[in-house]
Amino acid sequence: MYLQLPTELVKAIPVLDRLLAHGYEAVFVGGAVRDTILGLQVSDVDIATSATPHQVMGVFERVVPTGLQHGTVTVLYKQSSYEVTTYRTEGTYVDSRRPASVQFVNRLEDDLSRRDFTMNAMALTNEGEVLDPFFGYQHLLAKKLYAVGDPAQRFEEDALRMLRAIRFIACYELQPAPSVWRAITEHGSAIRLIAMERVQVELDKLLQAQKPDRAVGWLLASRLLLHVKEPLFPDINLPKANATEDLSALALLHCVDMRWAALLIIMQRTKEQTLASFRALRFAKKRAQEISAIVEVHELVMDHKKRSPQHVSQKTWVTIVISMGQAAIANWLQIAQLLQQNNQLILEKKEIKQYNEWFHAMPIYHMKQLDVNGNQLMAHFAKRPGAWINNLLYYLLQAVVCHEITNEYNELLRYAEMWRKEVDVSEQPIRYIQKQSE
Ligand code: ATP
Ligand code: MG
Repeated sequence: MYLQLPTELVKAIPVLDRLLAHGYEAVFVGGAVRDTILGLQVSDVDIATSATPHQVMGVFERVVPTGLQHGTVTVLYKQSSYEVTTYRTEGTYVDSRRPASVQFVNRLEDDLSRRDFTMNAMALTNEGEVLDPFFGYQHLLAKKLYAVGDPAQRFEEDALRMLRAIRFIACYELQPAPSVWRAITEHGSAIRLIAMERVQVELDKLLQAQKPDRAVGWLLASRLLLHVKEPLFPDINLPKANATEDLSALALLHCVDMRWAALLIIMQRTKEQTLASFRALRFAKKRAQEISAIVEVHELVMDHKKRSPQHVSQKTWVTIVISMGQAAIANWLQIAQLLQQNNQLILEKKEIKQYNEWFHAMPIYHMKQLDVNGNQLMAHFAKRPGAWINNLLYYLLQAVVCHEITNEYNELLRYAEMWRKEVDVSEQPIRYIQKQSE
């Protein structure tokens, strides 16, 4: 069977041709072949060749020896780069995660046989001929995910393949072959051997699926997260694979971090639990903080509502806004609206609308926007720097956002004087103040 090659592959044909002209075999492999068949955008173009890495380096002028021990050389050609990997098989695996050795081989079919799923084990020639010894094309058309060989054995070799399986099922809307699903549910505990950083990468890709609700549904049904090295969400009531109704709002959010935030809110995680999960997944600190801030806004609103069933007062709301920052609030409002439309929140529509209005009506959002600064306060009171400055700035900010005073230098100073008479200026900073000064 022959296919029309997409531009990304057409552009790379000269790389194949150069290897062929030197007497080596060379074909496109992996995700690029799969995505071409499905008519999807091809991301990275991988090439497999019978040439050894040193032979590849002899054929091209611009090369980077990216992973010589695995047989991979990056070839730079025109504006693009291509990973060119020598046909190889993998020796015995150590700890369900890495082969002890790789052997270079001469036959393409042997190389394809080491790949995880039949749809990832096809090759395409420079003329667009599909080479498919494991029937990946048929499996793709039938929307089935099959392993190359015995899935239990393949997952035991490399446990990350189980998470990849969930991702492919979700992203390509496939059904797992019964053997694949059985192997995941029976051998899931091997996933504990996989580094949490790699779990993070897979989960991020999973959440970016066009139907993230379906992706999370399958993920929870697989129970893999209970077995990862640092188990995640052990106390979540696991829905069945198809019970994705509660998660349908996720698809309406476009950025992966917003999907994380919404998911954690739906799962009723606290900010602390969220941070703990992100620590386990080795998220970058800033990213973890930004997402958990959205979860914290939700927690704060819900806490207030528990104490008084009416909606949060304007004063409380603006206090939450100035402590959590504009970005977290705007993001939470967007998520809250979606969840509310889905009847997943105890908040009413008009309540969220009110928060939105109050939020947008605020004259300022941060101490830095006050018409007076710390130096001016120090000069005015002839006092040395200390925690009192932040305390006072926060007090002024609160008064401004609650519309008690205007954000105008003289008025702020008059109010500051009143504050000084009433409060011991060495008072400990309160929680909200620490946040603003971060
Ligand atoms: P995507 O790039 O969309 O994440 P992909 O299938 O291209 O998907 P890559 O990680 O780029 O995934 O890997 C390229 C190819 O290498 C795969 O298509 C597959 O053939 C093979 N491969 C990748 N990871 C594994 C693995 N853990 N076990 C076996 N084969 C793998
Ligand atoms: Mg790829």
